[in-house]
Amino acid sequence: MHDLTRLALAASLVAVTLLTGVGPAAGDVKIVATVPSLAAIAKEIGGAKVSVTAMSLSTQDPHFVDAKPSLVLKLNKADVLLAVGVGLEVGWLPALQTQARNARILSSGTGYLECASHVKLLEVPAAAVDRSQGDVHPGGNPHFLFDPRAAADCARAIAAHLATLDGSNQRVYQANLEHFLAKLAAARARWEKQLASSRGAPVISYHRSLSYLVAWLGLVEIATLEPKPGIPPTARHVAGVIKLGKQRGAKVVLQEAFYPDKTCTLVAKKLGAAVVRIPGGADIAKAQSYIAHMDEVVTRLAEALR
Ligand SMILES: [Zn+2]
Repeated sequence: MHDLTRLALAASLVAVTLLTGVGPAAGDVKIVATVPSLAAIAKEIGGAKVSVTAMSLSTQDPHFVDAKPSLVLKLNKADVLLAVGVGLEVGWLPALQTQARNARILSSGTGYLECASHVKLLEVPAAAVDRSQGDVHPGGNPHFLFDPRAAADCARAIAAHLATLDGSNQRVYQANLEHFLAKLAAARARWEKQLASSRGAPVISYHRSLSYLVAWLGLVEIATLEPKPGIPPTARHVAGVIKLGKQRGAKVVLQEAFYPDKTCTLVAKKLGAAVVRIPGGADIAKAQSYIAHMDEVVTRLAEALR
């Protein structure tokens, strides 16, 4: 190559690097997701064009995440903030958004996406619920990521959001979306088959976090150990749940690992039932995909209900 040509090429490469080094067009859109399953789905859609981090782990209660300074730093640098919404993060996210000094990720910002707006919600109260009474689901149930159909809705919303922010990679996001939706549809068929013989089975859960899972698989949640979402079990309420569980022949008590397991163990013992520990989300520390996470959830359920 001629020296001058080589020089021109090098200069143009520098120019390109400088140009693309600004903002999300760099091909490295920085995504921060509030919960790990949302992060795992975002990685499927963004692929090599994005970097994704989650603000919480699958072992943490998503209603109560520690507002650590490291999270402020993550949000400060983020192009996109993916939230579940419908009140799930209301106890910890707003303060972090303010502290991050990044207009993009404010709830009014171009990078903010609240996934609940794209999902058909369950348990939306007809009248406003008073949060002062401790109910942490005042606007409806935010735990929809346990339903693969809702996960598909979120994936579509994330793809559309990324395409708006980073139009040059729109085709990549669309192709990744289609690939993910195809994998998810195949997995969903497999999961439904795994649980087909358990349709109608009565189950008890600790928190009202498994409503979408239960509704999707045709199980029947007869009671939760919390009298209301976010209110710890009382002796009187638990006695009522045990009575109902005996009447209905409940054989499983479902619980995410971050809830205290004393009550679940007691109730399961009284009913001769099994405690099923449900992973709270994709284990992103081990780069677990959303589908691998749901494989684990469905397999544990199927084994207990067999
Ligand atoms: Zn909840």
